[in-house]
Amino acid sequence: MSAPIQVQQLIAGEFQHSASKDLIDVTNPATQEVIARVPCTTDAEMRQAIDSAKAAFLSWRNTPVSQRARVMLKYQDLLKQHHDELGEILARETGKTFEDAKGDVWRGIEVVEHAANIPSLLMGETVENVARGIDTYSYTQPLGVCAGITPFNFPAMIPLWMFPLAIACGNTFILKPSEQDPQTPMRLAELFLEAGAPRDVLQVVHGRKQQVDMLLTDPEIKAISFVGSVPVGQYIYRTGTANMKRVQAFAGAKNHMVVMPDANREQVVNNIVGASCGAAGQRCMAISVAVLVGQASEWIDDIKTALGNIRPGAWDDDQAAFGPLISPQARQRALDLIAKGKQEGATCLLDGSDCTVEGYPDGNWIGPTLFTDVTPEMSIYSEEIFGPVLCVICVDTLEDAIALINAHPCGNGTSIFTASGAAARKYQHEIEVGQVGINVPIPVPLPFFSFTGWKASFYGDQHAYGKQAIRFYTETKTITARWFESDIADVGPNMTINLK
Ligand code: NAD
Repeated sequence: MSAPIQVQQLIAGEFQHSASKDLIDVTNPATQEVIARVPCTTDAEMRQAIDSAKAAFLSWRNTPVSQRARVMLKYQDLLKQHHDELGEILARETGKTFEDAKGDVWRGIEVVEHAANIPSLLMGETVENVARGIDTYSYTQPLGVCAGITPFNFPAMIPLWMFPLAIACGNTFILKPSEQDPQTPMRLAELFLEAGAPRDVLQVVHGRKQQVDMLLTDPEIKAISFVGSVPVGQYIYRTGTANMKRVQAFAGAKNHMVVMPDANREQVVNNIVGASCGAAGQRCMAISVAVLVGQASEWIDDIKTALGNIRPGAWDDDQAAFGPLISPQARQRALDLIAKGKQEGATCLLDGSDCTVEGYPDGNWIGPTLFTDVTPEMSIYSEEIFGPVLCVICVDTLEDAIALINAHPCGNGTSIFTASGAAARKYQHEIEVGQVGINVPIPVPLPFFSFTGWKASFYGDQHAYGKQAIRFYTETKTITARWFESDIADVGPNMTINLK
């Protein structure tokens, strides 16, 4: 067992140790071994990061867009070269299986590929002759210093949703990653500088509320991107906007999969297993409720058998379907909700509460858990469990399923499994959820679209990546111009314009 390393921060172009004595343990979720300690950046260091980002903006905003695009091209190449290495760092600190950890990195790489298209993405609009001899055209210009606050569950993908696009737009960026798995974002930052980014366009600070509050209130920060839980998202949105900032806050979820009786039974069962328990259910797009319509209620036994056939394990166990939960606190919270589900009258067909994994007696394990007879009043339905727990609700009709889901406060993702185009179309049209899969269990859009959660799953206006992120990270400047023909200078015989 090696001594825990102290995680560095990136401020004013230097990777440095913080002077802070306030250190947070980063633990291996399968063993509780302390693998690193992350500092809570001091107020003075926060100030230095903000001032440095502000100074860097003045030159970065004038760097030609093609040069900014080349940094992103090089960066995506470096991330691909280091894909396995990043996957291993990520797996060790989150407990995700190696394949899942590499998937987390890959979804981030795709956003960097998208950011390499920045010249096209930034294009404004033009109309000639809006009035006689007058043209109107618009530019997109960067905002200044932007900041991002990210959750533990995708320590590569979510930071990469934010800083590459913000910086490609010409902004500078301060990232405050999750204190639970900061080593992955620090490695992303190292590779970003290696790709040729000026050293002070990205700053990485660490900590919790105190550091976030400084970002939310400092007048130099123009925009805040947040991803995390609902209560913190509401706080970030309220505080950031009260301080006159642009804010996008992606928050928690409760995602439903509707299963119609005409669906492909084998596909449903196979897909529901990974969608509910993959990454130990710690995905904001995980399916946590299966809504079985009509005779699809007869498939519960198949779902139970499939869930019973998978098990958790350590990140390098290639037979494991998923890893431990991130922390003992996260595990306890999920266990409490499972216990409440039983008390409140749901039937627990499969109980992963006492799950053990050989060789890892101290891991934050929960096995696949399946509840039926769930009603909307129960805590296991109303609250996000963020564990490998699937609730089943049986309804008579598609209309009943739509009404149930539309009544839930969250609206991040949903899916319908059916062979009927008409049922799928009705569902996609009427459902009040921002991301819909049709025979696709976890419909996370690729980066040329945007990640479009709704209702309590998102506070703000413009969403992550795609065209909406470009709007979020830029201002539009619209110019109306008139040139008088009588001012055209004489052009001499050598065809040079007389400028006098
Ligand atoms: P969290 O809300 O506890 O923490 C998110 C970030 O906020 C962290 O960086 C943390 O340090 C900071 N933070 C925590 N408390 C704070 C406070 N009081 N004031 C200011 N900052 C604070 O979330 P988490 O547990 O890291 O992540 C899991 C949550 O994120 C789940 O609810 C999940 O659904 C959600 N999530 C949502 C999306 C989405 O796109 N909608 C994506 C991923 C995760």
